[in-house]
Amino acid sequence: MKQKQIRKNFIPYVFLAIFIVSVLFLFDTLNKKVNVLTYDEFMKMANAGEVTEIQIVPKSRASVYEIRGVVKDYAENETFFVRVPLSNDIMGEIIEVQKEEKFTMDTAPDPDSSTFILFLINVLPMIILIGGAFFFITRQMSSAGKSMDFGKSRAKLNPDSNKVTFKDVAGLDEEKEEVQELIDFLKSPKKFQRLGARIPKGVLLVGPPGTGKTLLAKAVAGEANVPFYFISGSDFVELFVGVGASRVRDMFKQAKHNAPCLIFIDEIDAVGRQRGSGIGGGHDEREQTLNQLLTEMDGFGANEGIIIIAATNRPDVLDPALLRPGRFDRQVTVNLPDKKGREEILGVHARNKIFEDGISLSNIAARTVGFSGADLENLLNKAALLAVRRNKAAIGMEELDEAHDRVIMGPAKKSHKYTEHEKKVVAYHEAGHAVLGLRLSGANEVQKITIIPRGNAGGYNLMLPKEETYLSTKTELLETISGLLAGRVAEETVFGEITTGAHNDFEKATKIARSMVTEYGMSDLGPVQFEHQESSVFLGRDYNKSRNFSGQVAFEIDQEQRKIINECYEITKKIINENRDLLDLIAKTLLKYETITKEQIEYLVKHGHMPKEEVNDESVKATTLSDLTVEELKDLAQERKIKGYNKMNKDELVKALEEE
Ligand code: ADP
Ligand code: MG
Ligand code: ZN
Repeated sequence: MKQKQIRKNFIPYVFLAIFIVSVLFLFDTLNKKVNVLTYDEFMKMANAGEVTEIQIVPKSRASVYEIRGVVKDYAENETFFVRVPLSNDIMGEIIEVQKEEKFTMDTAPDPDSSTFILFLINVLPMIILIGGAFFFITRQMSSAGKSMDFGKSRAKLNPDSNKVTFKDVAGLDEEKEEVQELIDFLKSPKKFQRLGARIPKGVLLVGPPGTGKTLLAKAVAGEANVPFYFISGSDFVELFVGVGASRVRDMFKQAKHNAPCLIFIDEIDAVGRQRGSGIGGGHDEREQTLNQLLTEMDGFGANEGIIIIAATNRPDVLDPALLRPGRFDRQVTVNLPDKKGREEILGVHARNKIFEDGISLSNIAARTVGFSGADLENLLNKAALLAVRRNKAAIGMEELDEAHDRVIMGPAKKSHKYTEHEKKVVAYHEAGHAVLGLRLSGANEVQKITIIPRGNAGGYNLMLPKEETYLSTKTELLETISGLLAGRVAEETVFGEITTGAHNDFEKATKIARSMVTEYGMSDLGPVQFEHQESSVFLGRDYNKSRNFSGQVAFEIDQEQRKIINECYEITKKIINENRDLLDLIAKTLLKYETITKEQIEYLVKHGHMPKEEVNDESVKATTLSDLTVEELKDLAQERKIKGYNKMNKDELVKALEEE
């Protein structure tokens, strides 16, 4: 092997050497000036005594003499060259002249008669040709060998050196219980085999992105302490047809070798999509891969000690054949964490971070309804980064707050310039939501309001249900709608004009109202379900709402929906008018502080003014670009996709952002 390598490496150098030598030789000849003379010219010069030396080389094969020589007034690199017929007469003439003029004359042996040189001349080109061909062929073959690897499985064995165990997976207690059996099996398959218990071959983890499916699968392998093959569904999909299938085959071959072991296929929807369906036709390569996967899963016996865990967030698109008994016949749903789960997840990721005293993870958990595990990790990480940027010794509440907002809405656009009037409108709009939240028990509670624009929203208003519930009463739904309408009502009452700022609120309110009529049976049309969401893979969801009613009913639905909204609007108007003082108070406070939290609002309602010492983070008040730090500017530039922002200094950043 080693020798072969050396030979392979050696060949290019030989060619390089030959090339260099011939180039040098070429330069050498170019450098020389050679005057080609006729025999007559040569004899004239020789007779005139100008020739100083000659060399005669007989070329018997061509029947000529080649004569080279130098003339008196030649420059250093200059020579002449004459070719004459191979005859004794001519040789005699030359010898006669030489006797008279006494120039040096010598003869060289005929090169054509040398067998070695003859051999070289005839054979060398052949050697070079064959050597070259050999060189290229071997190179071709080795690269062909590389492309053969395509069909090899891309699955990585134990990809993470630092092992994940259940300790790293917070919450998910039920899910852990579900997979505990698999761990027991992988640890000692014999026990199960003896009693003839059949363990599922495949387990499908289903859940929204970021809920810890990948993490849970890794933890199963870590707990069982068996080899663990990790592959992502997209690794099977390649440009070349048939590659995916052969990768599947190869992966199972390797796995059987190492049983008991675990195969984890992440994002299985990339290969496991329903075959022969969908707009745009099927995908042959994917179907082949899927077929191979199904075949392999049928091919190994139930207790061979291989368990496949697959993860997806789109179980609805999977081919039903995958979910048949004997394949992925067990599904474990991994849900978004509830408050307790969130607190535990925060706990896991807070382990290696330093917090200021008095920071309570359970408070953060309460505020992060709907966050996935990945979001929570992201939140803590962002807070830590902010603390580092601010040169703090520990992560404080301000960082956590800002990180929270950033995770939800993207970094604050502090540079956004409101006109004074706009600012006022936004403040009253948001204050309107807050008032309704305070006055109606069913409306969402305001956790935090700000008039600093974030993402697409003007100001924003973090409103959450007071309790996390699974059922909503009709009153709650109506009050939620009222709360959503409050922004617009406040604008209307205070300024007598309305703006586009409420469009998002209306969207949400309308959706609730429509669902009340068509899905929940909460209108005068009675408890009839007219529509229900059928999620379809390939069409937008609204295309696929199944409708089973007449145009007349459609009209009535619209009427009912409008009735709900109008009634709520009236209620909201009444509440806003009754609480005009509170509205003014909150709006004015907002204009002054720009951001206020739930606790501050509560204090405000009780005392009629803000707590004295609680002055907001002063950086929030910066309104021009040049007030920001370089890091903050870079953040902004990154968000707005400005090219090369990383290399800019502060002035350039400000300029680039202003031009934006
Ligand atoms: P999924 O595969 O479901 O999309 P991941 O397993 O990749 O999500 O989770 C992404 C990250 O979120 C993990 O690396 C982990 O840091 C964090 N995470 C998610 N769920 C949890 C959890 N239950 N406990 C601890 N960390 C979690
Ligand atoms: Mg994943
Ligand atoms: Zn609003």
